[in-house]
Amino acid sequence: EELKEEYATKNPSSKKAFDNACSDIPGGITANVKFFAPFPLFMKEGHGAWLTDLDDHKYVDYVLSYGPLILGHERKEVLDSIQDYFAKHGTMLYGTPHELEDIFAKKIKKHFPSIEMLRYTNSGTEATLLCIRTAFAYTGKYKLAKFEGHYHGGYNEVLVSVNPDVSKAGDPTHPTPLPESKGISDRMLDDTIVLPFNDLEACTEILTKHQDEVAAIIMEPLFSGTIPATKEFMTGIRALTKKLGILMIMDEVKTGFRITLGGAQQYYDVKPDLTALGKVIGAGFPVGIVGGRKDIMSMAAPQGSDILDNSNTRSAADILYHSGTYNGHPMILNAGLTTIGILEHEFDGLLKRTERLKNGIRDIYAAHGIHILTPGLGSMFNIAVTELSDIKTYRDLQKSDFALRKKLDYALLLEGIYNKPCNRYNMCTAHTDEVIDFTLEAYEKAFKRI
Ligand code: PLP
Repeated sequence: EELKEEYATKNPSSKKAFDNACSDIPGGITANVKFFAPFPLFMKEGHGAWLTDLDDHKYVDYVLSYGPLILGHERKEVLDSIQDYFAKHGTMLYGTPHELEDIFAKKIKKHFPSIEMLRYTNSGTEATLLCIRTAFAYTGKYKLAKFEGHYHGGYNEVLVSVNPDVSKAGDPTHPTPLPESKGISDRMLDDTIVLPFNDLEACTEILTKHQDEVAAIIMEPLFSGTIPATKEFMTGIRALTKKLGILMIMDEVKTGFRITLGGAQQYYDVKPDLTALGKVIGAGFPVGIVGGRKDIMSMAAPQGSDILDNSNTRSAADILYHSGTYNGHPMILNAGLTTIGILEHEFDGLLKRTERLKNGIRDIYAAHGIHILTPGLGSMFNIAVTELSDIKTYRDLQKSDFALRKKLDYALLLEGIYNKPCNRYNMCTAHTDEVIDFTLEAYEKAFKRI
């Protein structure tokens, strides 16, 4: 409470902005995840790895807009690519096909060989939504299997058992589907099979039983940017879904270009049937991709028909519906292409500095006699204060000591480290060794505060 009071006193401008916003915007925030008590910080500038708030405090940013900003804020080459494009093409939204769509597609296919064809969307949410519709269309089945705790966006089909109260979620090996929001119907819960992550035996039993109804299984390969699938589980799920005629959707919105350049599928050497991408590939702008097997993705092609011709050979109901005013926005694809090009050269350094920070934080906790795990992969990790020797599921994670972590996070905010609403550490190329030194010193000071 003392830390929260100090925080409130130190940030009068954010408090005022928050109070103003609350009269017009529910909760004062435009995404529920952005809130933390007593009020979130309002930022006004971002440079490199740093954010500046309304009261001119500077913070090392480990939220990075929940992952996309892998090159940090205002990376020059990205800004130049936007400005050059803007100068040549005006508002840049032609509403026609343009060549960058295929240039970008080829770049994605180079890193993600499981993607034989792809379509663009405007967010990760839309990408997973289209993956699911595609799977329903391809299989003619209408149930979705998802994992307890996994997040795939903000629409009804996937807002099931994302942050469930474990006391209500039943047997860990057969989780009960629970709504994540008001407005989720019982019908939606009936159409969702919730699976335990990293438990191949239970998944085999449940999916075998429901194989005639389940179109697809969707998974976060690195659940919440924190808990990796075990290698045995990942290859086991791939083999099982193939055997049962269930499509495997890998949600790489967080992990694409973050775990490895080829995402989790490269790390695990597994080929899903469909993949959703987002975040990093848009360089900070809204974007998503649905990609996968050619025979599946081809369902979206209006081949042989002419939209203006009433003698269509295929009616709308024969084609997988996919459209969107902003799909394949050239400015975004251009900025994304620049980002991926830079990452191809800077990824190894990013991974090295992630390890350095992770080990440094672990050492500081250990020096204070506290055992933590730093689960994650690639350029993302989390901190779990736990007695467990390994964390494999949502329910394992729930056994962590969140109180200590929370206290420390407020102390870190006061010392200039911003990762409060996210918890996970997202790293960027602008987190240099100097920035990491600053962070570790801030950790020492934060520990003294608590
Ligand atoms: N899937 C995963 C794994 C995510 O982490 C997110 C966002 O955090 C989404 C889907 C939704 O993406 P967006 O926020 O771009 O709609």
